[in-house]
Amino acid sequence: MIRLLLITMLVLSSLQTMAAGAIDHAFVKLDRTSEAIDISRKLSFYEDPASSLTIYDIKQHWQELGSQEIPEKAYNFGFTDSTYWFHTRIENVSSPNEQWVIEGLYPIIDEMELYLVRAAGPMERQIAGDSVPFYRRAIDHHNINFDLNLSRGESVDLYFRVKTSGAVQMRTKLWSLDRFSNADHQERFVLGLFYGLLAAMLVFSFLIFLSIRDTNYLWYSGYILNYGILQFSLNGLAFEHLWPDSPWWNNRSVAVLIASGMVFVLGFSRSFLALKTNAPVLNRTFLVMMGIFALAAVAPIISPNYAPVIRFNSFFAVLAAILVICAGGLCLYRNYRPARYFMLAWTALLAGMLLYLFKTFGVLPTNVVTEYAIQIGSAFEVILLSIALADRLRHMAQKTQRIQREMNTVLESRVAERTAELESANRQLEMLSSTDGLTGLFNRRYFDTHMRKEVFRCRRRGSLALILLDVDHFKAVNDNLGHQAGDKCLRKLADKLISLVQRETDIICRYGGEEFAIVLPYTDLAGAKQVGEKIRAGTESDLWFEWEGEPQSVTVSIGVAVVGTGTTVEPDAVVAAADEALYTSKTRGRNRVTALQVSGHSADVTGVKPQLAGE
Ligand code: GH3
Ligand code: MG
Ligand code: MG
Repeated sequence: MIRLLLITMLVLSSLQTMAAGAIDHAFVKLDRTSEAIDISRKLSFYEDPASSLTIYDIKQHWQELGSQEIPEKAYNFGFTDSTYWFHTRIENVSSPNEQWVIEGLYPIIDEMELYLVRAAGPMERQIAGDSVPFYRRAIDHHNINFDLNLSRGESVDLYFRVKTSGAVQMRTKLWSLDRFSNADHQERFVLGLFYGLLAAMLVFSFLIFLSIRDTNYLWYSGYILNYGILQFSLNGLAFEHLWPDSPWWNNRSVAVLIASGMVFVLGFSRSFLALKTNAPVLNRTFLVMMGIFALAAVAPIISPNYAPVIRFNSFFAVLAAILVICAGGLCLYRNYRPARYFMLAWTALLAGMLLYLFKTFGVLPTNVVTEYAIQIGSAFEVILLSIALADRLRHMAQKTQRIQREMNTVLESRVAERTAELESANRQLEMLSSTDGLTGLFNRRYFDTHMRKEVFRCRRRGSLALILLDVDHFKAVNDNLGHQAGDKCLRKLADKLISLVQRETDIICRYGGEEFAIVLPYTDLAGAKQVGEKIRAGTESDLWFEWEGEPQSVTVSIGVAVVGTGTTVEPDAVVAAADEALYTSKTRGRNRVTALQVSGHSADVTGVKPQLAGE
């Protein structure tokens, strides 16, 4: 990304140059107020494509060579194999300060030499850069620097020679030594904050990884570690603090860290955005690119020619970064919620880079925010990514909970289903156990329990009647017509009874072989007698069979027992009374109805003596 911006800067700068025209780059004059001066725009330059000229050639012929005066372009010349020479002249007109520092603000230049040529005395040479051992620097500082002694009234010619395999950037500042120390002090505080934040986020997310084993956190930790060291390298701090004695490695570290960093960026994005499911094609692309970057991370170390490698890595990294943003955008478009913070995070980084770019071109003023815009942007990025991770976890947890809830609902509904099935089976069983197989009427078991309930109800309110019915001479039916005809006759009788007994509260039961019991709640003696008579007459007229060519009707004898309201009797007593009435009907000649009123006593009286109340 940084490289992309640098390239953009180059293009913009040439445009700006065309617009601005020639700028006076008079020599630098120091007066009483001079403390920190950007001398980038005071430099004239010469490009030596063959890298064949020496300082003596340059010094002698600068008048002709250095005529390409495009000071605006001094910021950035892009990737080049040429050697660049720069020149300016500094004159201390009236500053009492004698000690000065020249700072190169782009610390990853391989080699920068400074030749100081004075009116008298020998030429001085100093060298610095990221492939020059650190101890050779004038001041132990992460940026390239040179010292300069310049008393009041003196002047000096500065010739810089720049050779690097990365981009040539020539942003230089002249400081009084005191002011330089102060600025350095302040900068170290800001950088300390920035790297402190990165370190804290690194430790924090790695601990989270250890505790919850979410690989996203491992990728994220790897990314922060890599990004932190890359920034450290770009700032020149890594050279100062981590590997001051390894200019060879220092010169290659940026190329290695850009490539390895991209492995982490791609790995993290791939895992965070769940590309495997959200965008399978991108997922494969990411994997291939991660492989390429893994190789590209090794290439700077083993390749004899470093320059093409750093260029390839930088350009390829820009491509990959664009791809990552596209992947985030795609997932956002496909409504993948975690992509929101993800995009926000990368936008923060991008915004920081743009701010820095605008500052560099003077569109925005130089202040703490614009000066450290990249640091601020990446701090926000790292924090937002950490929020993104937390949000993603929350999202996943919610999803799990939802699935669990759904499964519970399914389970509950299944249980309810099964319960309903069981209940219906139960009811069926109950029905089967309470009905009679032959006639479909209630059976004796049901009669017994129902009778109990009715008798107890009758003790509090309403009367109760019980009809017992026995088919007359049924043995003869069986004997003459056969058992099956007898069964058929019983079924017919049952249907007849159902058609004749109409109240919903009445129930008809098969009491025994060809005996039936009919329970009639809230029915008095007259009513019960009426029902009994209706049954008797209906049977006699409608139920018949053929015997020796003659129709023979079926008759029934009926006994009725009635219990008045509030009477306390036992169920058995009521049945016994009805049985006695039935017996009376039989003895009196069959095909008739006898009714009895059961007179009750107090609650504890059993074995009630029924009272004959008439036919
Ligand atoms: P009575 O007028 O005195 O009642 O004469 P009865 O022949 O009906 O005599 P009783 O009530 O003692 O006879 C019952 C007979 O009913 C015995 C049996 O042959 C017949 N029976 C009992 N249960 C069934 C049955 O489920 N199917 C058939 N076909 N016959 C039955
Ligand atoms: Mg009988
Ligand atoms: Mg009988």
